[in-house]
Amino acid sequence: MSHRVINFYAGPAGLPLEPLKRAQDELLDFAGTGMSVMEISHRAKEYDAVHGEALSLVRELLGLPANFKVLLLQGGAHLSFAMIPLNLLQSGRKADYVLTGNWAEKAFKEAKLVGGDNVRAAASTKDVKFARLPKAGEYAWNSDAAYVHFTSNNTVEGTQFKEFPPTDKPLICDMSSDIMWRPFDVSKFGLIYAGAQKNLGPSGVTVVIIRDDILEMCEAQDLPSYLRFKIHAEKNSLYNTPPCFGVYILRNVLAYNKSIGGLSAIEANNRKKGELLYGCIDRHPGFFKPFVIENADRSFMNVDFFLPTEELTDMFVKEAKKNGMVGLKGYRDIGGIRVSTYNAVTVDNVATLTAFMEDFVKKNG
Ligand SMILES: *Cc1c(COP(=O)(O)O)cnc(C)c1O
Repeated sequence: MSHRVINFYAGPAGLPLEPLKRAQDELLDFAGTGMSVMEISHRAKEYDAVHGEALSLVRELLGLPANFKVLLLQGGAHLSFAMIPLNLLQSGRKADYVLTGNWAEKAFKEAKLVGGDNVRAAASTKDVKFARLPKAGEYAWNSDAAYVHFTSNNTVEGTQFKEFPPTDKPLICDMSSDIMWRPFDVSKFGLIYAGAQKNLGPSGVTVVIIRDDILEMCEAQDLPSYLRFKIHAEKNSLYNTPPCFGVYILRNVLAYNKSIGGLSAIEANNRKKGELLYGCIDRHPGFFKPFVIENADRSFMNVDFFLPTEELTDMFVKEAKKNGMVGLKGYRDIGGIRVSTYNAVTVDNVATLTAFMEDFVKKNG
C-alpha cells in the first residue's frame, strides 16, 4: 500500500482508511454495474440504494426522531448560511445569532444581507478574539426571534459548545466541524447543517437536518427552486443531480462509523484524544500556550496553541512533517499551531503527535 501520512488538516480533512479502501475496491465496478458510481444515472436503482442508505445512516447514527428530514445538498455551509434566512425570514420574521468565531460571523453577515435589522447579534466574544464562548448571563436574547443560530464548534478558534446556548427558541446550528463527534439530543434543534469535509466525507455534500415545524415555516414561493428546502425535502434530495460520488463516500464513512460502535464509541476515542493533547499542552505551560482562555470551552476537534517564537513554530511544523505528520500550521489570522483531531484521527495518531511534542520540548524548551 502507498504511504499514508498522519493528517491534522482543518478541512478538507482526513478520512478513515476503510471507507477509502472500499471506494478503491468498488471504483471500476460499482455494485456489479461495470461502471463507477460517478458514471451511472442518479435515477438508477444501484445509486438509489446508496443514496437511501446514506440518508438512513444519518438518521440512525444521530437517533433522529420521525419529525426530522435529512437532506443532502451542495454549496457547502456557505449556501446554507444564505438558504436559512432566505427560507425562514419571510413575512418580517426575526432571528438571533450567537457570534463566537470567524464562521459564526460569516453566517451572521449572510443572514443580514437577507434580513437586515431583523437579524441581530445576541452575544459576541469578539472583544477577546473569540478565545472563549459567551457565559450564560451574557446573552441578550430577543423574545421575538424565530430561531437562534450558533456554531457548535469554532473551527478557527478552537472552542466548542458542550452545553448548547440557553434558549427556548428553535436552535439552528452550523455543525460543520463537529457533527457526530458524540451523541447529543437533537430535539432542541430546528435545523442542523454541516459541510461534509471535516467529519463526514468529501467536500461537495452538505448534510442538512430539518425539523418538520421549521420546514413548514419555509413558505416562500418566490425563491429560485434550488434554494428552497421544501423542494429538496419533497424530492428526497433528488430534485437535481446530487453529488453522487460525495454521497457514496459519505455512505462509506457512515457505514464505517456504525461498524465501530456508533457515536458513543467515537466519543470515547475523541475524549481520549483530547486528554492526550491537552494533557501534553498543560504539562508545559512555559512552552505551549493555548489560544483558548477558558478550559471548559476547549474544543475536541481543533486545538490552537502557540510556541515561544515564530522560529520554533516553523521548526515544529517542519519536523512534524519529517515525522509523517501534516496540517499543523495555524490559521492565518491566529498563527501558531492548529491540530485538527476530527473523527478520522485515531488515538494512536494523537499519541504519536504528543510523543513528538514531548521530544520537541526536551530539545528546545
Ligand atoms: C469549514 C467550515 C465552514 C465552511 O464550509 P464550506 O463548506 O466551505 O462552506 C463553515 N462553518 C464551519 C464551522 C466550518 O468549519
